[in-house]
Amino acid sequence: MRRSSANLLESPLSTRQSQRHTHGKNPLIADEIGTLMRRAPREVLLCYPNTYRVAGSSLGFQVIYRALNSREEVACHRAVMPAEMLDGGPLHALTSLEFAKPLGDYDAVLFSIAYELDIGNLAMMLLASGLSPLASGRDARAPIVIVGGPLTTSNVLPLGLFADIVVMGEADLAVFTLLDWFAQGLDRGAMLQAARDIKGFWLPNFHDDAVPNQLSVGGACLPALGAWHSPQAEFKNMMLLEASRGCPRYCSFCVVRAPVAPMREPELDRVVAALDLPEYRAAPRVGFVGAAVSDWAPIKSALRAAIERGKKFGISSLRADRLDEDDEFVDLLFQGGYRTMTVASDAPSQRMRGKMMKGIRERHLMGACEQARRVGMRLFKMYVIIGLPEEEDRDIDELIDFCQRLSQRMSTAITLSPFVPKLHTPLAQAPFEAVETQMKKLKRIQRGLGGRVDVRFDSPRQAYIEYRLSMGGMDMGHVILAAMQAGGTLSAWKQAFIQYDKAHGTQRPAVDAAQRHGLWPLTGAR
Ligand code: SF4
Repeated sequence: MRRSSANLLESPLSTRQSQRHTHGKNPLIADEIGTLMRRAPREVLLCYPNTYRVAGSSLGFQVIYRALNSREEVACHRAVMPAEMLDGGPLHALTSLEFAKPLGDYDAVLFSIAYELDIGNLAMMLLASGLSPLASGRDARAPIVIVGGPLTTSNVLPLGLFADIVVMGEADLAVFTLLDWFAQGLDRGAMLQAARDIKGFWLPNFHDDAVPNQLSVGGACLPALGAWHSPQAEFKNMMLLEASRGCPRYCSFCVVRAPVAPMREPELDRVVAALDLPEYRAAPRVGFVGAAVSDWAPIKSALRAAIERGKKFGISSLRADRLDEDDEFVDLLFQGGYRTMTVASDAPSQRMRGKMMKGIRERHLMGACEQARRVGMRLFKMYVIIGLPEEEDRDIDELIDFCQRLSQRMSTAITLSPFVPKLHTPLAQAPFEAVETQMKKLKRIQRGLGGRVDVRFDSPRQAYIEYRLSMGGMDMGHVILAAMQAGGTLSAWKQAFIQYDKAHGTQRPAVDAAQRHGLWPLTGAR
């Protein structure tokens, strides 16, 4: 979210290039391993509407980059949101990381988007490059704008005003349809025409709010492989590898839950073979990615294989009930470089975990903490969602009591995130708790823990914006643009919502559209 108070639409574009290239190489990728410096008759730009640090840690972004560079006739380059632009600095015409080629000179511009608030950054990246952020304002000479990514598993309607095509869900195979079009040199009109008949492609201008179902792929696409690693990525010097996709569980707040995205798993020998590829051999660290990767049966064998190859590793999600009684698993984590044990409680009390179908009990969390202490880790870290439906003070008090007991065993940190209802989950119609109530709970937790536990929290006000976008319809694009034009500050968003709410009766048009079209039942089942 931009924080500047500048009026962005009226700001003259800066002639200074924020992604400055020194000695022919952009400093952001100067120490990256795996950069592809390819030229081809057809060139497309893959954009990430956030910083390089975040983009570099997105395996999905890397998978698409790899696929779009798999044919001789097409080259794919990358662009990211410059950090100073994200912080409210002046707009800069964006150029590719690889060749400083302007965004507007590409045949197609693709965005991978993970998070509702990044939609505004997407609009600003187009605007900064001299293109209309609104699809209706771009003519036949403009590059086609194609969007995909994790956000497409939830509510995509607010993307509708900005995108020409949205690829819904898992794009591992669909990306090759796009690649064919690029290789054949289809123009914008021909691509839009062809896309109308393709399953999982949403053309907002054609389909309106009748969004198609998500695409999903089989386990044969796994392990999905990364393309580069860098000391400037959030996961430093780590080559990513997707060791499972989907989840076998049913947590009612989660868009990755079993009915939507059943667990798919690669064979162990394919994962081990990937570790022997040159790009993985060259990386100091390997990241095993997956929403439920600690549920992947051969995970310990894969970790052992990484250790035998001299690698440190990270795992994107650890479930406490896989660790609490498994000494071997925790020993492997320690050998792989783990000094912080991070798990999710996802609700403040046992009562709420039960209601959310989380399947984690206090004894699992305490057991994981004991295990971390046993092997000599330094910190136990826990993610907790607050503001869940029917949550009461007694649930918050239980969290305080539990964290006190954890902190008597080892240093403990918790990160509190406000509950944001998501489309296509059983809680899609649940309320978003008032920001004031959330703030009171945060203060109660901080007071109750009295500095004994490191308490961090995601901003409830920012979560409110996420909530509005996660429930918004296509016209939410105007709110996004207005808020970004006014600087992207919290007060800019507030004003934009006030104006919108004066003219509209409902805050949940996404739910209305889902019900009207009967495309995705609200339970998330397909
Ligand atoms: S919260 Fe985690 S365990 Fe629960 S459904 Fe989502 S990915 Fe699976």
